[in-house]
Amino acid sequence: MSRIAYVNGRYQDMRDASVNIEDRGYQFADGVYEVCEVRSGQLVDMPRHLKRLQRSLSELRIAEPMPLSALSVVMHEVVQRNRVRFGIVYLQVSRGVARRDHGFPTKPVRPSVVVTARSIDPAKGADNCARGIKVITVPENRWPRVDIKSTALLPNVLAKQAAREAGAYEAWYVDGDGFVTEGSSSNAWIVTQDGRVVTRPDKSGILSGITRGVLIEALEALQIHFEERPFTPQEAAGAAEAFTTAASMIVMPVVTIDGHVIGSGKPGPVALRLREQFHRFASFS
Ligand code: PMP
Repeated sequence: MSRIAYVNGRYQDMRDASVNIEDRGYQFADGVYEVCEVRSGQLVDMPRHLKRLQRSLSELRIAEPMPLSALSVVMHEVVQRNRVRFGIVYLQVSRGVARRDHGFPTKPVRPSVVVTARSIDPAKGADNCARGIKVITVPENRWPRVDIKSTALLPNVLAKQAAREAGAYEAWYVDGDGFVTEGSSSNAWIVTQDGRVVTRPDKSGILSGITRGVLIEALEALQIHFEERPFTPQEAAGAAEAFTTAASMIVMPVVTIDGHVIGSGKPGPVALRLREQFHRFASFS
């Protein structure tokens, strides 16, 4: 079955879908994006993703391409047309097409919108989860505005590639003070020996993950102790458990960090419980 993408008002076969070569998303990574989990054909936590998209657009002064309710319709349509039951839907908005010049276009341009969706075999995530993933650390080298979900992801691309080349699944960034910020495409967590779940505050140095936000609410409801504070790779290595979260991974147990075995070296009970419980606290639409 051929895949269908939404590109600036049209649903097209992916093979024919294209954007202008002077699109600022292509030339400057001048755009933002969202990735939503698709589960049983439904979109997970869509309102929160759209709210974050709205914030990212506003921080970059990119116009909203259409009302959020219309974007939601398009995303559902792309999921349906691609018959995705389990997988992800990707939405990208760039500032639009203009003659190449670093400054914003002087005449208003229409933002470009692209939406794609793809199936992911749930067994793949389950497999990774059963084994637990390896994480390496890399020096934080991104700009300070990582709170904006920008398509400018070159440092993240290099960090993920470094992880793959080291036989790991994810790279966690470590800032100049020696604290973990987040993963190249996920938020970082540990569980202390006395059972406290710890993640860095979203005030600085991280993207405020939607999975992170839902999980914090879940922790409260499940009456699991939670601390919002930075932690070091050394603390993670000595922790009872570690895990990493993203819409595309949900809760993914981490079993080694830079080769140091965490806890038992197997996915921990807290991470597994949170993964199992997560969707009770998520919204579906
Ligand atoms: N941090 C970064 C850098 C990411 O790319 C992602 C995934 N988009 C996350 C955190 C997790 O965010 P979310 O839970 O919204 O997928």
